[in-house]
Amino acid sequence: MKEDQQSTSGGGDGVSSHEPEGRSLLGRRGLLRLAACVGAAATVHVLTADPADAPVAPSSAGPRPAAGPPQAAAPLKPSAYRLRPMTAYAAPKLRPAQPPVRRRPFLRMDAPGRTMVLTFDDGPDPRYTPDILRTLRRHGARAMFFVCGEMAVDNQDLLREMIDDGHVIGNHSWSHPLMPKLSRSRIRSQMERTSDVVEQAVREAPRWYRAPYGAWNRASFEIGADLGMEPLGWTVDTLDWTEPGSEAIVRRVRAGAGSGVVVLSHDAGGNRSGTVRALRTYLPELLDQGYRITVPQNV
Ligand SMILES: [Zn+2]
Repeated sequence: MKEDQQSTSGGGDGVSSHEPEGRSLLGRRGLLRLAACVGAAATVHVLTADPADAPVAPSSAGPRPAAGPPQAAAPLKPSAYRLRPMTAYAAPKLRPAQPPVRRRPFLRMDAPGRTMVLTFDDGPDPRYTPDILRTLRRHGARAMFFVCGEMAVDNQDLLREMIDDGHVIGNHSWSHPLMPKLSRSRIRSQMERTSDVVEQAVREAPRWYRAPYGAWNRASFEIGADLGMEPLGWTVDTLDWTEPGSEAIVRRVRAGAGSGVVVLSHDAGGNRSGTVRALRTYLPELLDQGYRITVPQNV
């Protein structure tokens, strides 16, 4: 039941990936149950058209500047630094322009043609992320990496490698807490610190975020928008965090494949060798079937 909910509701990813070693099993189960409930409640009917969300279609352009004077907040490319006048001593904040406040996450990325989006959460982890990057590079595929700040801060070379390969880095909080359990100020800290680490590493702040466990709440929608990020859930959960073996992961991707589908996997938080092996199998299969594996900016 729990797994069914998670595979369809966008809730319950990355279980216990950042919990202290000593946390009791009961505590973990409690977290899981809460995450599943919150995730399911927050994403019911999320695929139904929402007039409030209508003006911005993530499939067409991803996050885009809001109305108003965008110049001051527009992100600068590295080349723009060199063009700044010498009098500008302080480095500008590279926050993207502010998107609207959502009431639910995007769960799909529809685009013309056969496109799918692969996402990897909880990393980067030097044990698994480099292998995933190699496989993606071998096939010329781009993906999204929703990183945790506490992982990203020690693996900034991997962040730069992601950007160099054309992947998209998203924000997955600092330490993977259940956001609805936190105060507003702590939620902001979780999200802002992570965006800061990414921005420092690659000179561009994330434009997407994903709530840990798929546990979305109003504060994270509002703070995410304030930090220039759009919320992205997923369509298909590979349940790779249960470490079911690569064949089971491949089967779930095959079964869930379709245009506009966003696939959830994890490159950290446990033994992810199955995730690594599965990608080597299903990625060329998807490409052979005519899917374009891409990221929001390109769809
Ligand atoms: Zn996660």
